[in-house]
Amino acid sequence: MQKALMIGTGIGNLAAGIYLIRDGGFQGSQITMYGLETHGANDGNTVAAYEAEYSNSALSNNRGYLAKGGRMLNEETYENLWDILRSVPSLDHPGQSVTDDILNFDHAHPTHDVARLIDQFGPRTKPNKDNYEHMQFNNKDRALLTKLMLMPESNEQTLNNISISEWFKNSPHFFETNFWYMWQTTFAFKRASSAMELRRYMNRMILEFSRINTLAGVTRTPYNQYESIILPMRSYLTDRGVTFVNNIKITDWDFKDTPLQDDIIVTGLHYQKVDDGETGIIPVAETDLVFDTNGSITDSSSIGDLETPVKENFEYAPSAMLWKKATEKFYSLGQPDKFFNDRSQSEWMSFTVTTDNHFLVDQISRITQQEPGNALNTFIHSTPLLSIVVHHQPHFKAQKPNETVFWGYFMYPRRNGDYV
Ligand SMILES: Cc1cc2nc3c(=O)[nH]c(=O)nc-3n(C[C@H](O)[C@H](O)[C@H](O)COP(=O)(O)OP(=O)(O)OC[C@H]3O[C@@H](n4cnc5c(N)ncnc54)[C@H](O)[C@@H]3O)c2cc1C
Repeated sequence: MQKALMIGTGIGNLAAGIYLIRDGGFQGSQITMYGLETHGANDGNTVAAYEAEYSNSALSNNRGYLAKGGRMLNEETYENLWDILRSVPSLDHPGQSVTDDILNFDHAHPTHDVARLIDQFGPRTKPNKDNYEHMQFNNKDRALLTKLMLMPESNEQTLNNISISEWFKNSPHFFETNFWYMWQTTFAFKRASSAMELRRYMNRMILEFSRINTLAGVTRTPYNQYESIILPMRSYLTDRGVTFVNNIKITDWDFKDTPLQDDIIVTGLHYQKVDDGETGIIPVAETDLVFDTNGSITDSSSIGDLETPVKENFEYAPSAMLWKKATEKFYSLGQPDKFFNDRSQSEWMSFTVTTDNHFLVDQISRITQQEPGNALNTFIHSTPLLSIVVHHQPHFKAQKPNETVFWGYFMYPRRNGDYV
């Protein structure tokens, strides 16, 4: 019997599993998912419940929640997401799909951010040149951005190795615009990020251009994405007999030798158990399918708390390492070092704040003039470039009525902050 083996249990592989069952004629029993963690993003437990999954953590304060992100979705362009989640039953509303859950919630709580950018004078809503509705481009910025976006697909490879900073080198003004403040903090871009990626995002998200300042096109989930998306997907798969093996790291591959090494045929997967370090090999038949996520951005994250500094994990991330090992055998699998060798080009730091009363969130609502759930606020003159996202409350199902939870991030975590 043909098997499918999935390395990693992120949304990509969960979706692949659902497609195999829904459209590919697979039985759940033919599929096994190997995941590095039990929890992935937070599943609604407190930090204490999954602290152990971080080898480098010994927190002194593990109360509260940990969010590993706050995903913004898009109704018009996330066609595959809505399609796959339409087949996944809601865990909260029997008879509904997860797509119904999310879109119904979003339509009842539409996003309209009026404090997207905050400077030393408060939200940029005053009727002047800095108003958040102005992109603030000059003609040089416009010309370079247009040239990038209109570049024919066939020329895209000329952007290999070109950073955004290089693309705009003749117009450094671009990096002072409201547009760049919004763009980099909405999509986590840095000046060192690739111009090719900027081009692709621009073309994919062009319809957001006119409403990037209010985030009116952003679709949000009722709760954190683990509870609203991942758990229902996992439960769809478990109900159909898919096997999940948690806390296991796939560390290497065995490949079949073929003429000229052109065919990639996996014959074995090496693993190491996270809990006790036990190692072994999972045999793979030639006809089996192996799915790998070759570059997670959360599998090498480290945690700290208000009293415990983050102990940095300098290891090459497990997904990147596995990719690198495959590139040692096959010349055509890309260059993981481009993505993982210089952390300063891609690192960022996020934090989750749990409070046991509503005071802080109420004050944020007062200043940003909006209810929790609408906002992504960037403090554009803060040295580490701070943004916060106050979610619709409760953000975790287990949250108590007195608690509030919000999430935020620094794009430049190594810079000292401005206030303590
Ligand atoms: C802070 C943050 C904010 C984001 N905001 C948005 C947003 O607003 N909108 C949006 O659309 N997207 C957003 N994203 C991106 C989105 O979350 C990712 O694109 C998506 O989760 C990727 O899914 P994936 O399955 O490809 O990979 P992942 O979710 O990274 O899953 C890969 C899994 O494989 C595991 N793994 C890796 N190596 C191994 C190994 N060797 N053995 C076993 N398991 C392994 C990892 O631990 C991980 O669980 C955000 C991401 C972050 C981090």
